[in-house]
Parts: sequence; C-alpha cells; structure tokens
Amino acid sequence: MRYSQLFTKTLRDAPKDETAKGAQFLIRAGYVHKELAGIYDYLPLGLLVIENIKQIVREELNNIGCQEVLMSTLQNPEPWQKTNRWDIEKMDVWFRTQLAAGGELGLAPTHEEPITNMMRTYISSYKDLPVYVYQFQTKFRNELRAKSGIMRTREFIMKDLYSFCADEKTHNDFYHKAELAYHRIYRRLGIGDDTFQAFASGGVFSKYSHEFQTITTVGEDTIYYNADKSVVLNEEVLNDEVLTELGVKREELKSTKAAEVGNIFTLKTKYSGPLDLKYTDTEGKRRDVIMGCYGIGISRVMGVIAEKYCDNNGLIWPESIAPFKYYLIGIGEQGAEQAEELYQQHTNDILFDDRNLRPGEKFHDAELLGIPYRIVISDRSLEKSEVELTDRRTGETKNIQLTELQKLINQ
Ligand code: ATP
Ligand code: MG
Repeated sequence: MRYSQLFTKTLRDAPKDETAKGAQFLIRAGYVHKELAGIYDYLPLGLLVIENIKQIVREELNNIGCQEVLMSTLQNPEPWQKTNRWDIEKMDVWFRTQLAAGGELGLAPTHEEPITNMMRTYISSYKDLPVYVYQFQTKFRNELRAKSGIMRTREFIMKDLYSFCADEKTHNDFYHKAELAYHRIYRRLGIGDDTFQAFASGGVFSKYSHEFQTITTVGEDTIYYNADKSVVLNEEVLNDEVLTELGVKREELKSTKAAEVGNIFTLKTKYSGPLDLKYTDTEGKRRDVIMGCYGIGISRVMGVIAEKYCDNNGLIWPESIAPFKYYLIGIGEQGAEQAEELYQQHTNDILFDDRNLRPGEKFHDAELLGIPYRIVISDRSLEKSEVELTDRRTGETKNIQLTELQKLINQ
C-alpha cells in the first residue's frame, strides 16, 4: 500500500478521555476512530490487523474440525424468553430495538440461544453429531463502563464457537482440543508467553470454566499463580476449598493484573434443555444435546496487544498480525526511485511512505505505526548498493545489500 493513498493521517493528540497508552496510539496512528465512549470504527490499517487476527483463529479452528457461519445480529426474543435471559434483571447488558411493524428485537450480546434454536433444524439423530460451529460477529453490550479503548466496548468483534455432542466423552475430547487450539492461537498472536489458562467461575455443572488471561497492567481482572504457573486462577474463585482441591497454598501464589482474551465453558444441557435441542440415540431414545461454548474477544486481543507492545514512540506489532511487515522510506532522488521499484515488486508486504514529507516526519510515523521493520533507501546507502533495515522492537539497524533484502522479503 502507498501511504499517499491512505485517507488516514497520524494525529498529534488522542482524545482527552482516552487514558490507556495503547488506545491513544491506536487512535493517533490511524488504526481506529473513536465515535463515542466504548464505540469505535476500524480504519484501513486497523481492519488489516483485525483480519490478520481472525485468520489465525480461523486456521486453528478449521484445523480441529469447526465450520464457519455468520449469524444475524438482530435477535428474536423468543428463545431468550425460554432460557429466562430476555429478562433485564438476568442480563443487564441488553440493547433492544423496535420493529416498525410492531414487536421487539434484541441486538446480539452473544449467541447461545439463537444457535441452539437454529441447530434444531439440522440435528435430529446421533448421526448428525458432533458439530462445531463458529463465527466472527459483532456483539452489542450495554456495558456500564467502557474501558481502555477497544478492550471493553459496547460494540465489539467476538469469535464465538459452539460445540454440539451426543455424549460427555465426545464433548470432553473436543474441549481439550479447543484448549490446545487456543494455546496455539495466542502463541501465533505473539502473546503466548504472557497468556495463561486460568480456572474461573461460571462453569455450568462442571465446577469451573477456563479463562485465557493475558498479563497486562491495564487488565481488569486479577489472577493468582504459582511459581511455575502450572496453577493459575481468577481471584473470583480464590477460596480455601479451591486451593485444597488444586493442591496449592495461598502463600505460594502471586497475583497480577490480566485481561481476559478468551474463555471456554462446558454448558452441558443448559441451553439444549429449555430450547428442546434433542437427538435420537442408537437405541431410539430422545436425548438433550451436550453443548460447550468458546469465546475470543478479537477486538479486545488487538487492544491488549497494542497495550502490551508499545514504547514511548508508538506501537510495536508482532509480525503475525502487523498490517504490513515493512515500512519503506526512500531518501534522495535515487533512493526514492529504488524504493519505488522495490515497492512495486512487493506491494502486499510493504507500506511505502511515498508522501511528500521530510524524512524526519516519516521516521516519526514509522515508529508510531509500529510496523515490524523499517527499510530506508537513500542515495548514500545506494553508493554501496545497501539499504538500512531497522527492527522496530529492538531498535537495531543494520546495513544490508539490496539483493539480500530482496531475498528476505521473498521468504
Ligand atoms: P468480561 O468478564 O471481560 O466482561 P465476559 O465473561 O462477559 O467478559 P464472554 O461473554 O464470555 O465474556 O465473551 C467472550 C470474550 O469476548 C471475552 O473473553 C472477552 O475477550 C471478549 N469481551 C467480552 N466483553 C467484551 C467487551 N465489552 N468489549 C470487548 N471484548 C469483550
Ligand atoms: Mg462481561
């Protein structure tokens, strides 16, 4: 992409009410635009990051046999009434709207009810099971407080996966596969070393659910962990009974702030029961389908990474989700010409800063945008057929032959 064709501009200041550093950089660098508290637009560069995150999640889920769908955002109250969750006392985050023809609809806060209801059309026998279905979808939640930019918002992008199994053994096997897939996902997203699977409350029938918590100072949760982090638990389940069960002592645990980037739940028949999602088993008996649900906050992940990986000058994207791998600057007449040529050979990997600006301004924006590698081609470097390659993370610069760089980009 040519920077001159991007409509976004880097900004000197972020909105005054935006306090988190990563959120300020996301706005100043032109990744997102703030509409209102907790409501954001994703701009061209931000959308590339979101799509890269989604693609990693998609690949890992497809690998364990999941199928992608896109369900509606407007929701019928009926299935929610059957599970008692249409009630604003039970679910205080509802946004609702009126049909012109009369009647009320909900704006999707999550999809357990609609998907359980939908699957009644497709599941009737044990032969139809198991099924694993996921989507990337916009969720609406009337959160009391929006927080830390895109980390807690009122409209956000979630990956939600639902599993439908005939028996507990199949469910448990899949649950374990999902755990492993989640670990692979966070590793590929560049936050594997700081993301831990924690015991949390909210499991239905099984005692716990699992949360995936990424350590960050702006996290809203507090997690406790032992020395080798083999036991990690959310503060909300920290009590004597749980400690005994997990075989750890309170004084062995340290605490830290963390952000929940995903979670997995065993639902058993919580939704299939009231919504009448049944299958006929091998003996002709009607049974409730065993369910699980598995969330990842796609936009929150982007916010957490922006928050964790930045310095005083801007963002530092992990290569796997960066909008581009290289930020290219040409200096001087020949430098600009050579840069143009290089760009044309690798338009997908390079953000070419071809704007009519002073080099200093381009260097500044390269840091702010946080593209992993900066390439500078100048008349001077070309005297030795060299270019300058700078690693945004380490700040290290090396001079390499233009032909070497070509090889590197082609890898
Ligand atoms: P939290 O405790 O943070 O409110 P939750 O338990 O309500 O999360 P789920 O309903 O299970 O979360 O949603 C799945 C994932 O979606 C969460 O793990 C989180 O990463 C993300 N998420 C939840 N609420 C928000 C929000 N308001 N803004 C952005 N992401 C969110
Ligand atoms: Mg919540």
